[in-house]
Amino acid sequence: MPLDKAGESGTAYWIVKEEIKMAVILIKNALVLTFEKDTLSGEIIENGAVALKDDLIAEIGKSPELEKKYSGADRILNADGGIVMPGFIVTHTHMPYVLGHNMPVDFTQLKSFWDMLQKMGWEWLEDITTGEGIYAATRYAAAKMLKSGTTTVCDLVEAPNVLPGGGRPLDYSIRAIDEVGIRAQVGYEVTARIPGVSILEKLDPEMAEKGFEENIRILENIPKESSGRIHGRLGVHTAYTNSKETLRKAREIADKYGCGIQIHIAEIPRVFLVEKFGKSAPMVLEETGLVGSDMVAAHCIDLNDEDLEILKRNGVNISHTPLTNSFGGNGMARVPEMLEKGMNVSLGHDCFFTLDVSEYIRYAYLVHKAHNANPMLIPPFQVMDMVLSNAAKALGMENSIGSLKEGKKADIIIIKPDSPTPVNASSVISYFTMTFQGRNVDTVIVDGRIVVDEGRLTTADEEEISRNCILEAKKLWRKNGIEV
Ligand SMILES: [Zn+2]
Repeated sequence: MPLDKAGESGTAYWIVKEEIKMAVILIKNALVLTFEKDTLSGEIIENGAVALKDDLIAEIGKSPELEKKYSGADRILNADGGIVMPGFIVTHTHMPYVLGHNMPVDFTQLKSFWDMLQKMGWEWLEDITTGEGIYAATRYAAAKMLKSGTTTVCDLVEAPNVLPGGGRPLDYSIRAIDEVGIRAQVGYEVTARIPGVSILEKLDPEMAEKGFEENIRILENIPKESSGRIHGRLGVHTAYTNSKETLRKAREIADKYGCGIQIHIAEIPRVFLVEKFGKSAPMVLEETGLVGSDMVAAHCIDLNDEDLEILKRNGVNISHTPLTNSFGGNGMARVPEMLEKGMNVSLGHDCFFTLDVSEYIRYAYLVHKAHNANPMLIPPFQVMDMVLSNAAKALGMENSIGSLKEGKKADIIIIKPDSPTPVNASSVISYFTMTFQGRNVDTVIVDGRIVVDEGRLTTADEEEISRNCILEAKKLWRKNGIEV
């Protein structure tokens, strides 16, 4: 189906295609990190191997034994002593934001987070994003994330001007994700905001209804039980861009489809919501019944003790996004306290900066030490849990991804470290926070399919993806009056 017809015929073409998988793959000569439970207790196997059968992990063990047993494998990958581990999981992204990377806008207009949201987030990006832009940017983001070791994302699509004409933004998004081969949960952002109109002046429940329809279309087409790589996760923008009725309806839909919710909480100063509603975001969300353990909440910055308690008692999963929060001058989420309270904290990145997960790992590892003047905060294993087991749990996928275990999904990466010192069983955890870079990822397997082979994307033409993305970025930039 030609792209310009996407969404018009009602054909769910993204679930039709049968993926080509290798039957049996053996990865040998590896420093295997299972990351089972957490990285303190997770097993490290020197001279290890992992055997994959179809889309699942068949066996984990010592290399000589598995080499003998799987000598007839369809493909044998030699890790050359490198690291073999589960793929990284990022719990909050907006892949179409890639079109705004390096956009030469007037940053002097961005004096507060409020400006940042209204201008950078809405006016200059989301409100002028097209279906073709979503497709181009999502392909680019998925390709770069895969190449640097991210195998699963939770993406929230925001493009309010694609909806009113009957467009279907999630078709463009899902088609791109499907082609490139990353695993994803995807939702469209339900918001009553009217593009170009201040949320303080007017909200339109009709906009929210269209958003619900877009989510439901996907949730109906891809049932929760389906075994594919792509699933829906209901997207809700915030408590303050929706009515309480809308928030209540979102809970009903999430319960009906068992799909989980993704939302932004407390990225904006608490006082704004208290002035508007007399309550903070967690209070509004608890009152409307939307909070729950099936919720992934991005940001969660300006929270008082009571707010934090609400999120904890409702089992809300946090998606910590320290780079974007720093850029917006939003302050810093109370992550060490959240972890201390036993809350589930994962990592997100909004796709606002680089798509290399190593930068987010390193920043999350460092920033709380600096912010609290305490080097003991966030040890390396804790930040690794944020992009592995905690993230899998946040997405309700702890039984299938986030660690290497027989029977779990074959979402695996091989890293060939470029390090001036030995990377072995005793040094490997520090490697991730000190010198790991996405470009050290050599091979990536998702759902048993080799999607990055010796650093090369196998599923699509990377140069064509880049050219197409630049083309769409130019179109978007020109709408902002930028000559390019
Ligand atoms: Zn976001």
